[in-house]
Amino acid sequence: MDLLKAKILEEGIKVVVGKGNISRLWSDVLVEGVLLKEAFPRVYTLVVNKSGYVRDFWKVTGSLEKWDIAFRRTLFDWELEQWTGCRDCLKGIVLRDTIQDTIGWKFNDNGKFTVNSMSRCLEVGNSGEVGVFDGVWQGLCPSKIELLVWQLLHDRVLVKEVLQKFGLQLDDSVECPLCSDGVETIDHLFLNCRWSWRLWQLCMKW
Ligand SMILES: [Zn+2]
Repeated sequence: MDLLKAKILEEGIKVVVGKGNISRLWSDVLVEGVLLKEAFPRVYTLVVNKSGYVRDFWKVTGSLEKWDIAFRRTLFDWELEQWTGCRDCLKGIVLRDTIQDTIGWKFNDNGKFTVNSMSRCLEVGNSGEVGVFDGVWQGLCPSKIELLVWQLLHDRVLVKEVLQKFGLQLDDSVECPLCSDGVETIDHLFLNCRWSWRLWQLCMKW
């Protein structure tokens, strides 16, 4: 996959919330173009549950339904502005008990990914008309490395946990094949796995 394709995928993919039990509130793009943890970093720093599913934050008491987000401490006045913006975004997320969370595609009217819609985006991107694709790459290292770093920063590395989350059938378990001692998440594969850690140690000595 080249860099432009990767960027288009990043821009175009949006999780459509249904039951809210697969999508994560802070780290999935649930509102068009907005990743809550990046758009509201102060709020994200202070929330108690940083990895919860959307459903975890939606509280139903009798006929009353509302977002229930706990903070480590009371917000200061200067933090309330971000919280207000975050709450406005949350209004755009509606849970629906009758459908599963799914992935939506922004660049097609019916929300479904097609090769044609991807081709149209590539044509526009290659003609240099799409400003959002500018300024991402600095050319400081080989493009394959840049792509991997970019995918890591945006939680887009297709580790087994991510594949399973979006309903892909895996041939084997979600366990890390290197150490067999934990689920193959991005954090595990690149940081916590004892083999990765050994590699980091070697790099640091280099
Ligand atoms: Zn491992």
